[in-house]
Amino acid sequence: MRYVSTRGQAPTLDFSGVLLAGLAGDGGLYMPETWPEFSADDWRAMRGLSYPELAARVMAPFTAGSIDQDTLLGLCREAYAGFTHPATVPMVQLDRDLFAMELFHGPTLAFKDMAMQLLGRLFDHVLTQQDRRVTIVGATSGDTGSAAIEACRDRARLQVVILHPLGRTSAVQRRQMTTVLSPNIANLALEGTFDDCQDMVKAMFADAPFRDDMQLSAVNSINWARVAAQIPYYVAAALALGAPDREVSFAVPTGNFGNVFAAWAARRMGLPVARLAIGSNGNDILARFLAGNDMSMRPVTPSLSPSMDIQVSSNFERLLFELLDRDASLCAAIMTGFRQTGRMAVPDASWRQATTLFHGEALDDPATEAEIRRLHRETQYLADPHSAIGIAAARACALPGIPTVAMATAHPAKFPDAMLSATGLSPALPPHLADLFEREEHFRVVPNRLDAVQDAVRASVLKNAA
Ligand SMILES: *Cc1c(COP(=O)(O)O)cnc(C)c1O
Repeated sequence: MRYVSTRGQAPTLDFSGVLLAGLAGDGGLYMPETWPEFSADDWRAMRGLSYPELAARVMAPFTAGSIDQDTLLGLCREAYAGFTHPATVPMVQLDRDLFAMELFHGPTLAFKDMAMQLLGRLFDHVLTQQDRRVTIVGATSGDTGSAAIEACRDRARLQVVILHPLGRTSAVQRRQMTTVLSPNIANLALEGTFDDCQDMVKAMFADAPFRDDMQLSAVNSINWARVAAQIPYYVAAALALGAPDREVSFAVPTGNFGNVFAAWAARRMGLPVARLAIGSNGNDILARFLAGNDMSMRPVTPSLSPSMDIQVSSNFERLLFELLDRDASLCAAIMTGFRQTGRMAVPDASWRQATTLFHGEALDDPATEAEIRRLHRETQYLADPHSAIGIAAARACALPGIPTVAMATAHPAKFPDAMLSATGLSPALPPHLADLFEREEHFRVVPNRLDAVQDAVRASVLKNAA
């Protein structure tokens, strides 16, 4: 399989190439050159497979030419062995036609583990093949950093440097990162905001000598391999509910659009998906787009669901590319215009087409809390704020007679304050994290200056190489 950029000006690459590259050289996102499609019989033949077997079967067309099928299966088995639920992604029935699929039974209790656990192993495999080492740098407001650290710890070919804003992540999220004491992991607490952290990462990539010297790489949500690793659980959910002989809908709490784009991809590959509901918090750019083709940036406001506090959903460019029938130059022009004006000029026909499949639902904090409380009262189910938004979107957008699966993206124990305030209960951390608050923390505070951050990255690379 070859991959093309949504902006049409970068060289095509194979799977290993897009894995290591992340963003395309022209600023675009990599997409498969053609979509693999499975027939109804192909889907039926996947019934009864274990989750790792299913994941390898669904992803095989994407890695073809780079990673052979046995290797991929081995990596999937290892990636999901650390999940604490025997079903990997269990489903809970909340109503006659409403289900929650729990994607948070991995090491850091958020759905990012689904892709990141596999990505760490894919990186290790490809770098060993090529006898290379890379330095992964990333900015996090919480979940992405801890998932990347857990997935990459103790891997000799990877040095991982994660920037978080000093004093601005939750205690659970910070400790999940800073208590990992592996020599290849460095946590930098930047004296600034999350946006400053992101700007630092961008600036390091823009500094070509530094980038080459450090062999910088990224595992952020625009990496195609992350999208690919999120497709299999949609297949698992649909098969469990009767696909390919019955349609299903999905509801996804959405920030960067990566997770819900994976659902779109599953449909594109032939899975019978009736509707895709997008849940947002008060940062509702996607809901406004679907309601009236208004894709205009507003300032980000903090919410109870911090992993969705985003104004530019970077993976939306992938859907846009498809809505434009893969016209890369038009896609590039629209994205450049969006950067310049803060408003995305999506052609009316494309917008109309999007609204036939996607439905948006935005919940502010009081509505999110009310949904958590209602769910607990009526079903005894404890949903974290992100998952509750997905479930509310599922209820708002359900079609009669078609089951809807809401993606539950974080364990409620990750957000104890919100849970306590909504339900009076504070869910316990699972056993493997029960002593999180007794563990030793290690991080380095760095001033909000590029030279200081680059010095810290260089120091951590040298220390690990020594
Ligand atoms: C990252 C994240 C999301 C948003 O996922 P996207 O792929 O960015 O849309 C939702 N919920 C939780 C808990 C997350 O960590």
